[in-house]
Amino acid sequence: MIGAEGTLAFIAEAVLNTIPDYAFKMTGMLYFETPEMACQSILLLKESGAEALEFMDRASLRSVENMAGIPGIVRLLPAKASAILTEYQADTESELLTKWENAIGVIEGLPLIHDHDFTLDPDRQAALWKIRKGMYPSVAGMRNSGTAMLLEDLTFPVERLGEAIKDVRDMFEKYDYENGIIFGHAKDGNLHFCISQHFDTDEQIERFRKFNDELFDLVLGKYDGALKAEHGTGRAVAPYVEAEWGKEAYGIMLKLKKLVDPENLLNPNVILSNNKNEHVQNLKSLPVVEEEVDKCVECGFCENRCPSRDFTMTPRQRIGIRRALQRLKKEKRWTYTTRFQRIMSLMAWILVP
Ligand code: SF4
Repeated sequence: MIGAEGTLAFIAEAVLNTIPDYAFKMTGMLYFETPEMACQSILLLKESGAEALEFMDRASLRSVENMAGIPGIVRLLPAKASAILTEYQADTESELLTKWENAIGVIEGLPLIHDHDFTLDPDRQAALWKIRKGMYPSVAGMRNSGTAMLLEDLTFPVERLGEAIKDVRDMFEKYDYENGIIFGHAKDGNLHFCISQHFDTDEQIERFRKFNDELFDLVLGKYDGALKAEHGTGRAVAPYVEAEWGKEAYGIMLKLKKLVDPENLLNPNVILSNNKNEHVQNLKSLPVVEEEVDKCVECGFCENRCPSRDFTMTPRQRIGIRRALQRLKKEKRWTYTTRFQRIMSLMAWILVP
């Protein structure tokens, strides 16, 4: 098995050894003048015993600064400011306080542009985590109608993270992704960024291809980093897997795939693909439907929560259908006959258990 996509097999049952959710936590936000200054502090904070170090650039912070409960300082930060959400955790209160006493000297020696606000209060801790967790939905909700939301998942050496963030931001400017935000699990050198992208013209797709080629060259060539850290490789990275792992390792992956799946039935072209254009073909366009529908990024978080999921469709499925209808209308394939046929098959799908 490789990755999460069932390229060689699927997982029918699994037992997971989870990491502990410690009962006692000390959480605070550290603000820095620039991303480089923030990233220079990561190794020190890691050595001071921090369990969580979540980096956020100015654009990420701007995306949530007007949400309820976000500290007022976020709105007043300078143009290139960055923040690191820092958390110390322990099994007992005394263990936590010992950890904290050791860490405070390190924190007070950092070039912060605002007093730190560490707290033991679960409500204030939740408000700080809301900043970090609210970014993706907030940026997704603000993007232009008809654009797809792309979330990248790169890894750089921790000591070069600041330099890498600057390079990625320069690429946003070069390729006109002016709404891009960068955040991530800085402790492990794992950066995410979100950009929005139209896929309905050849020019837009070509821009995306050039951006990806240059980005992945940067990650592999300049930083010897990884193209995926915690999410699946999918089709988007398939053309670059050989460059990342080398000819020999890639050859072994292909042989293994052939051995277990000789007819290439399991997720063809996901992760392992000879098609160098796999990432720019068969892209799903997101046609404009209406304001509420257009906000959906098809993340699927509503799938297992929606109360209607067991007797009809989930919000994502309803939205998927409305988008499909819009695509057909655009292609002028939404005739009276197809309308009748599709409505009948939709009704059958909903009504027949
Ligand atoms: S898939 Fe569901 S949860 Fe995700 S954006 Fe769409 S409606 Fe919201």
